[in-house]
Amino acid sequence: MIYLDHNATTPPAPSVIEAMLPIFSRLWANASSQHGPGQEAKRVLSAARSTVAQVLGCKPAEVIFTSGATESNHLAVRGLLAVAAPERRRVVFSCIEHAGHLRLARSLSEAGWAVDFIPVHSDGTLDLPAAQALIGPDVALVSLMAANNETGALMPVAEVAALTKAAGAPLHVDATQFIGKQLFHFATCGADAVSLSAHKLQGPKGVGALLLRQGLAFAPQTLGSQERARRGGTENLPGIVGLAAALALLGDIALESARVAQLRDLLESELTRALPGTHIWSQGVARLPGTSYLRFGQLSADVVLQRLERLGVAASSGAACSSGGSAPSHVLTAMGVPPTQALAAVRLSLGRTTTAQDIASLLKELPPLLAPLLRNEALTVE
Ligand code: PMP
Repeated sequence: MIYLDHNATTPPAPSVIEAMLPIFSRLWANASSQHGPGQEAKRVLSAARSTVAQVLGCKPAEVIFTSGATESNHLAVRGLLAVAAPERRRVVFSCIEHAGHLRLARSLSEAGWAVDFIPVHSDGTLDLPAAQALIGPDVALVSLMAANNETGALMPVAEVAALTKAAGAPLHVDATQFIGKQLFHFATCGADAVSLSAHKLQGPKGVGALLLRQGLAFAPQTLGSQERARRGGTENLPGIVGLAAALALLGDIALESARVAQLRDLLESELTRALPGTHIWSQGVARLPGTSYLRFGQLSADVVLQRLERLGVAASSGAACSSGGSAPSHVLTAMGVPPTQALAAVRLSLGRTTTAQDIASLLKELPPLLAPLLRNEALTVE
């Protein structure tokens, strides 16, 4: 199989699995227990927390382990809004946040918060003047992703951080797609709270973290003594050790990002050459190194994915599937892309396990399968 769906999830690294196994088999004690095995588990937890803090540029006390980015996002937003001053009743999200996060935005609106969405331009970048107009002294929280999971477009976190700072509001950043693909440093990124997820960076599923700036007022959402009483529940020690092991692999991130970007650029230039009618979204803007979001004319994504499947290639469409049908991506819709084109969107996302051979074989085999379909499509359109 050629796996080109790294933005959905990544295969766990062998060293991650190796680091986790003894926690299941031997170090399974509860880190809150007072006996010897419990204290050993506590030391393992503390070592993992130190690794996470060191790699991500924060203090160990600023790390709250969670079940993944969805929980981290909810914890940040609900935890910060719970302590917002009464005159701050507005919450600002970008309109291209992850689907789960937009559901949270809707639920806030139903609960009486005024919720505003920062629009994006047609190239997938954030409309900064619009952000500036929305972020004022009545804002309780701004939540913005660091990089979009569909287009890969990077968001202007530092610029928005300057706006939130001036407005006296905290900034939450969903860095789920960013961390693991780009250098990240919490202390200097400008955000007050940052979400991440292990399974996007060769770690296990069901574990992540919320980095929360020390001293920031915050109300826990799950009560219990763990994580300095900010997130109760017995810690998922195997997962946490896996997350730390995955982050420890990021020492070569600059080189690895350059390698992946080079493969992605080759893939895009060759596909565009071999298949006229190929369109790539957000190609000209700063974006994640391994993400390519494209359409081949208006060939439906289902048709393209079927051909890819035949070649043993795993990729994604840009559509949200619900029972019985597909809805065009909210991200493309926000970029002003018409539904017929949005339903043709295919996302190829490369990562650490992607080889030059994978890309060469895709480039050899995909164009001959799609070219006749594109020619027929051109005839139909004429
Ligand atoms: N935010 C973004 C930007 C994502 O891409 C994802 C995963 N698709 C999530 C949040 C949710 O992460 P998790 O699976 O860890 O809950």
